Amino acid sequence: MMFPHVLKLDVGGVPVEWLRWQDAATLYARNRVRWEAGDTRFSLRGGARPDGTRSSLDINAIIAVSDRSRRFERGRPPVSNKILFARDRHICLYCGNRFPVKDLTRDHVTPASRGGRDVYPNLATSCRACNARKDNRTPEEARMPLLALPFEPDMASYLLLLASGRRITGCQQAFLEAFADKRRRPS
Ligand SMILES: [Zn+2]
Repeated sequence: MMFPHVLKLDVGGVPVEWLRWQDAATLYARNRVRWEAGDTRFSLRGGARPDGTRSSLDINAIIAVSDRSRRFERGRPPVSNKILFARDRHICLYCGNRFPVKDLTRDHVTPASRGGRDVYPNLATSCRACNARKDNRTPEEARMPLLALPFEPDMASYLLLLASGRRITGCQQAFLEAFADKRRRPS
């Protein structure tokens, strides 16, 4: 069965993670699903009952779960090259060219050896040539200005980037995009 993943929210409606449908089914079975937010449902066929009928379980594409264990500290996305390269659309932030993943590197804008941290606002996608040319310098010192300001994706943007290239439902896409937009607007 090739279902898309189920989008898990916390009870406050904040997106938390993608779940395999098996894990979503377990949450339903344990009565942990508090409300549903998607307009797509996946119907799972269970085993045959003694009377010959088959059990089935409807799983919503977006579920809010009462779950004390927040997956990520304060809803901050973990740092990975996959998300970094997706954030920058596989474009080197120094020369502006697009490269395949194998030719991309994680550049520390302020070099790690000089106190630059491994956090999204200090990370840029860089091709190998630009990374070698920049060396152990800041963009100012290397006279290699960044073409875009590195930023930390919010959780909704992170989950969208994580799913890029994978199949997600229209309601999941719309929910995450609306959430990301809401967070970007100044309050
Ligand atoms: Zn480059």
